[in-house]
Amino acid sequence: MNWDDLRGHRDQIEMLRRSIERGRQAHAYLFAGSPGIGKSRFARIFAQAMFCERHADTELLTCEECSPCRQMNAGSHPDFFSIGCPEGKNEIPVSVFFGSPERRGQEGLIYNLSLRPMAGTRRIALIDDANRMNEEGANAMLKTLEEPPPHSMLILIAENLDALLPTIRSRCQLVRFSSLATDDITDLLLENELASTPEEATAAANMSDGSLHIAAQLLNPALRTLRLKLYESLATSGIRPIEVAKAMTSGIDQIGGDTNEQRRNAGWLIRFAQEFYRQVVLRLSGDGISQGAGSELVERFSSLLTAQGHMGIELAMELFDRCVLAESHISWNIAPTKTMESLFDDLARTIRNGLRPQR
Ligand SMILES: [Zn+2]
Repeated sequence: MNWDDLRGHRDQIEMLRRSIERGRQAHAYLFAGSPGIGKSRFARIFAQAMFCERHADTELLTCEECSPCRQMNAGSHPDFFSIGCPEGKNEIPVSVFFGSPERRGQEGLIYNLSLRPMAGTRRIALIDDANRMNEEGANAMLKTLEEPPPHSMLILIAENLDALLPTIRSRCQLVRFSSLATDDITDLLLENELASTPEEATAAANMSDGSLHIAAQLLNPALRTLRLKLYESLATSGIRPIEVAKAMTSGIDQIGGDTNEQRRNAGWLIRFAQEFYRQVVLRLSGDGISQGAGSELVERFSSLLTAQGHMGIELAMELFDRCVLAESHISWNIAPTKTMESLFDDLARTIRNGLRPQR
């Protein structure tokens, strides 16, 4: 891989290159930023550039042809180690650091880092989800950072710096990553065939907070179907709160996943409702026409409000605000079902009162 395989983050590449040029190469780096923006990919290209035999470290480039470059691309470089939190787990298992109980200390990351490099001059470890080390893992990491094997280089990746021991943070050179631009995400979704139309890609990118990971989740077919169902329920003058909440809850159940994932999906539905009303506001104020899946439903509800004149826009904004409040309820750990029931109940009442013929 080379830097062309990465979207954005040009400042970070330049910053690292300059610091290596000035001889400030660190034993440990900490890459911090939102999930799904390419930190892990960045780290792999960085490691490959360090291993590449045809380019000096200071160039921070990969040739794609030398043996280390080919081994990195094939995932078989003997001096590169990559660990992270397994799917469905909340923390990195201790065995990843120390080896299995039977062979404790004779395998695992700490042991591997202590050995001399097989091929080149260094061993590089990538620790993804570094904010998900438990106490034992974090202490092992801290010890390695305090007395790093001379030929080792560590790259820690974390979404949330607060979840890291300050003593770990202070021993790493911090590189902060910013979110991706909406256009970059739109392009990536289309390039990777995660979205089928540009409208769909743009809509998901707009809601993704600069994360490709989130955008891809939003395009999950089951979630997309549920979004249309939600739009249909919202596009009428008489929302039926209990029915809608029930339909949404059972839709989330069907998508499956653990409690955290279900909560996250409930959060998405509420974001979708926000997006619905946001588009209505834009439509009514003449600032935009809605595009993509569900646009005719936005149109349908907008025309219901048009008759109310400027009161219609205010009503749509009030509905939007109510969804924003519901989103914070989800993040405060209030049960998703309860949050949705009261949300739809309030939306229905607000519309009923708002659409009442003016005297
Ligand atoms: Zn190379």
